[in-house]
Amino acid sequence: MRKIIIRVIIIMISILAIIISYNINRNANEVEEVQVATIPIEENIIDEEENLEDKKPIDSNTSDWNLILINRNNAIPENYEIETTKIEKKWNINVKIKEATELMLADARKEGLKPVICSAYRTYAYQKNLFNKKVKEYRRNGYSQQNAEQEASFWVAIPGTSEHEVGLALDIVSENYQILDENQENTPVQKWLMEHCYEYGFILRYPTSKKNITNINYEPWHYRYVGVKDAMFMKEKGFCLEEYIEFLKQYEK
Ligand SMILES: [Zn+2]
Repeated sequence: MRKIIIRVIIIMISILAIIISYNINRNANEVEEVQVATIPIEENIIDEEENLEDKKPIDSNTSDWNLILINRNNAIPENYEIETTKIEKKWNINVKIKEATELMLADARKEGLKPVICSAYRTYAYQKNLFNKKVKEYRRNGYSQQNAEQEASFWVAIPGTSEHEVGLALDIVSENYQILDENQENTPVQKWLMEHCYEYGFILRYPTSKKNITNINYEPWHYRYVGVKDAMFMKEKGFCLEEYIEFLKQYEK
């Protein structure tokens, strides 16, 4: 009797093994079939590209004048042309952002605030002068030329890589507090600007949280014009300009 039971069990195990192995084979075949079916043919590739373009959530391109990316890895193109105009009596800015800047300052003043521009368009020579001054500071503190330049570049952009040189950036401070340090962000002027600059097409270009991406220390006074549509989108997504450009590039391959 025991022998019979053992035989039955062996037979049952064998049947089970056959069923399992059959299923594994069948699944393997199915996977193969699926793979065959998804090998892309040329038509599919084109469709996918069109779909990606359709899904682009914003109608902007990295080549748009207002989205020019300028940082230590992206110098201003040699043939870059700029037309400047004066605002606030003495500051030169890119003519394309005059209206937006004036509107933002006027609206801040309507709120009883006193914003003042402390830097706008800079020539290459002026930027070079600023940079060299910062380098000298570090040299005086015992830094080698190379290290001094490296340290200085976290505070002052290397000549040829500053947004000020294309007139699209403005440093704005409070009339009552004109020191360029982190306390700047506690002034009512900065608080208002940080909240509303997007509505006028500006972004706070170097937020602390993006220091590792922008490679510039926090500057709660440096505003960069990118246009209302793009500024609002960047705010919504939490992008700094470097991230936004990478985001747009996905759709431009
Ligand atoms: Zn600045």
